[in-house]
Amino acid sequence: MLHRPITVAGIEVFPLCDAVGPMGDSIRRPMREMFPGGCHGEPDEWILHFHCYLLRDAAGRTALVDTGIGPSDSPASSWAPVPGALGTELARVGTAPEEVEAVVITHLHSDHASGAVVAGAPAFPNARYVLQRAEIDAAAETVLDHVVRPLGERVQAVDGGAEVLPGIRVLLAPGHTPGHQVVQVGDLLLTGDLVLHPVQLENPRVTYLYDDDPELAAATRVELLDRVRAERGMIGTAHFAEPFTRIV
Ligand SMILES: [Zn+2]
Ligand SMILES: [Zn+2]
Repeated sequence: MLHRPITVAGIEVFPLCDAVGPMGDSIRRPMREMFPGGCHGEPDEWILHFHCYLLRDAAGRTALVDTGIGPSDSPASSWAPVPGALGTELARVGTAPEEVEAVVITHLHSDHASGAVVAGAPAFPNARYVLQRAEIDAAAETVLDHVVRPLGERVQAVDGGAEVLPGIRVLLAPGHTPGHQVVQVGDLLLTGDLVLHPVQLENPRVTYLYDDDPELAAATRVELLDRVRAERGMIGTAHFAEPFTRIV
């Protein structure tokens, strides 16, 4: 699905819609189990979008945030609507994989990291891949084999806040996974899975069934959403139907 870009603090932010669809039966549960206490009559069918974001500054330098669900045989194929359309979406906004200077992987879940490596080699051959060290340290062997090890020296492991490109920063936002990170551009926060569904905007304390540490995830969500709200800023989400939401 085509989503429109915005410009924040001089940086163009292109939402790239990798896929749209429901979760597969292997992990789908009723909404009241997915978001305990958060659902009040929502339809039980959750149609997820899977968004990555391309950031391009005035000098033409680019950073990609997340790499989507990957090809037909990706680890996400057990539950997500593979193949993803990231390559087509990148071409639509005029960026070749070779031109991407930095790839931020918010976390190593299969719907965010499966486009990082293609046929055993980095899909963005000239990019640094920015990951929190805590995320790598907590990763399963299969994830290390499929994503992290093939990237080799292209991995840039960071601890907490770090600048990716001028005006583009990552922040550690743990809970959904141990080393989950978000991306700050001006007053826009690209949230990864800090926020999964709009019910968590109504009540940020509503947890998600597949959070690694639900209480920590909720505390992180409350803190970061409060910060965005204080600036009357926006979030760019991975799984909402509309990429951008202003927090008021
Ligand atoms: Zn979309
Ligand atoms: Zn996730």
